Amino acid sequence: MSTPEKLPELFGSMVFNEDTMQQRLSPASYKAWKKCITEGTSLDISIANEIAEAMKQWAVENGCTHFTHWFQPMTGVTAEKHDSFISPVGGGKVILEFSGKELVRGEPDASSFPSGGLRATFEARGYTAWDPTSFAFIKDGSLCIPTIFCSYSGEALDKKMPLLRSMDQVSRQAVRILRLFGDTETKRVVAQVGPEQEYFLIDKEDYAKREDLKLTGRTLFGAKPPKGQELEDHYFGAIRPRVAAFMKDLDEELWKLGVLSKTKHNEVAPCQHEMAPIFSDANSACDSNQLAMEMMKKVADKHGLVCLLHEKPFAGVNGSGKHDNWSLATDTGKNLFKPGSTPSQNAQFLLFLAAFIKGVDEYQDFLRATVAFAGNDHRLGAQEAPPAVLSIFLGDDLNAVVESIIKGTPYKDTGKRTLEIGVDVLPSIPQDNTDRNRTSPMAFTGNKFEFRMLGSSQSISGPNIALNTIMSEQLEQFADKLEKAKDFQSELQKLIKKTLTDHQRIIFNGNGYDDAWIAEAEKRGLCNLTSTADALPAYIAKKNVDLFAKHGIYTQSEVQARYEIHVENYTTVIGIEAATMIDMIKHEILPAVSGYATDLCERADSKSAMGVACKYEKTTATAIGKLTDTLMDACDKLEKDLGKIPADAKKAMDYSHKTIVADMVKARAAADELETMTAKEYWPFPVYSDMLFYM
Ligand code: ADP
Ligand code: MG
Repeated sequence: MSTPEKLPELFGSMVFNEDTMQQRLSPASYKAWKKCITEGTSLDISIANEIAEAMKQWAVENGCTHFTHWFQPMTGVTAEKHDSFISPVGGGKVILEFSGKELVRGEPDASSFPSGGLRATFEARGYTAWDPTSFAFIKDGSLCIPTIFCSYSGEALDKKMPLLRSMDQVSRQAVRILRLFGDTETKRVVAQVGPEQEYFLIDKEDYAKREDLKLTGRTLFGAKPPKGQELEDHYFGAIRPRVAAFMKDLDEELWKLGVLSKTKHNEVAPCQHEMAPIFSDANSACDSNQLAMEMMKKVADKHGLVCLLHEKPFAGVNGSGKHDNWSLATDTGKNLFKPGSTPSQNAQFLLFLAAFIKGVDEYQDFLRATVAFAGNDHRLGAQEAPPAVLSIFLGDDLNAVVESIIKGTPYKDTGKRTLEIGVDVLPSIPQDNTDRNRTSPMAFTGNKFEFRMLGSSQSISGPNIALNTIMSEQLEQFADKLEKAKDFQSELQKLIKKTLTDHQRIIFNGNGYDDAWIAEAEKRGLCNLTSTADALPAYIAKKNVDLFAKHGIYTQSEVQARYEIHVENYTTVIGIEAATMIDMIKHEILPAVSGYATDLCERADSKSAMGVACKYEKTTATAIGKLTDTLMDACDKLEKDLGKIPADAKKAMDYSHKTIVADMVKARAAADELETMTAKEYWPFPVYSDMLFYM
């Protein structure tokens, strides 16, 4: 981008967006596409052909030779298989072709993607199908077509298909509620999402010297540096030129791809930063976040940096998460979580709020499971990220309203009366300053909920599928009841009061890091699922399976598949970390410390001849010698235990959590202590102060 004035032109220049479609499609085809995305009607193949042709022309003009269906398998990252546009026409010549059929459907070999047992081996084919609600875009000379990915028998093998299902369902139920409040216009309610993305940037040269970073994304060793984040001088601090150059490039790449990158700043830990886009519908927010993560890595590489998206790249300094800001809005642009200015709008707001509170309370275990994986275990409950207990923060003003409804006590703005829903106007609820409620896993921030338990590397789709589905269930229950009500006002009043009363336990406005809260949460009967191994079984709890099946989001086997994939993934990740650890101990750390100790002994020998006591050399060599043996024993134990992983997947996960992780902690402690005793030139890889303060 040469100048800022060019930004509007640059924005979305690599996207086959609505504007481009309007310019390049016949009015009839454009209209058919529009109807397809707003009303869910299907597209005729002749129209698909025309769209494909227009897409191809546009892509070729922009330098593309290939196209790919871009999909999101259950690994949580994106996948692509590129085909060129060439088609032979005889005489050794080719033309560039792209048909509606190729646009609409692809057949990648699905056998190497995790299916959690959904796809029998004799039917390895998977199908990708165009998602016309998310725009195609150009990346690395390929036209990328966002698609869903399913098995031969139509089961979802990806993260997009259930998300789209959940968006449809929450829309359907929310519209029913809106009708009860006299809204006859809204055709569709859209789940809106804005994910704030944290990440670390480190120097590529340091990265290249660390096996652990390369293989696992996090440091498996590293003593605490003399300076960490204690001075709090990094958060919102001036952005250093090298990082600023990266951020500028990143913005440009994201803007070209139509990602609404808006905010950038330094985060709490040294080398930690954040990017937040402007929110959009959940589907494109999800696609955009995947693109953002990919671009962060690519752009970093150009700047001699490496972008770490792991939840805990460095022990002892803050890890990275993702804040999933979520709300519901009508297709006419009204936010359903925005307190209104009339009694009726407020009643509607309170009903949606009550539905959310009830939903989070009833499905807290499932929400917790959607953010459970090995990387995130380092954050949740570790006093820097939300605790592992789910609760909702409402802020003082809204909480006062809720309390007044529950207790029937007078609310200040209504004088002596209690607040009457549908009659009284709520006091204005200010947008929260986020600092006040940083410890809450789910904070109401004025007109949206901020779900703060997500890990930085994860796809945001799972948590949003859960939020949409949970909300669908509550709205459906409410609509069923209210549609039958003889006296809508009094039924509404009763319903809100009862719901808030029954589910008040999930509301917590205090400090989530306080130990007293964990004890209190237990008294309230809230789940405290402190690890992935504890949290994942919620996937297959009957009430949760029933919920997803009822709303057509996941069939029982689809949910089971996801559970199995996550269980297996945990064991695999821990296994790779453990094996990497063993490797580094044996091939790097032990030889290095042994060499140093030997040199110290030799120095002591030659100096003793001169009558020097050699206290430093001797005590250091002795201490290192002892710790070296401790480390070797710890490494042996880890290696032996690794050989004993049970065959059963669930048992393997529990065993990895209890035994392997504990072994790794012990081995690390010995290695980190050795690091503090060993002369720098002997230590085999860059240490924390090298990596965190390279700027
Ligand atoms: P914070 O103070 O937590 O940084 P911001 O106000 O900057 O919060 O917003 C964070 C994210 O929330 C941004 O991605 C923003 O676009 C998104 N956001 C704002 N309003 C909504 C909404 N109504 N629904 C969903 N996301 C929203
Ligand atoms: Mg935030």
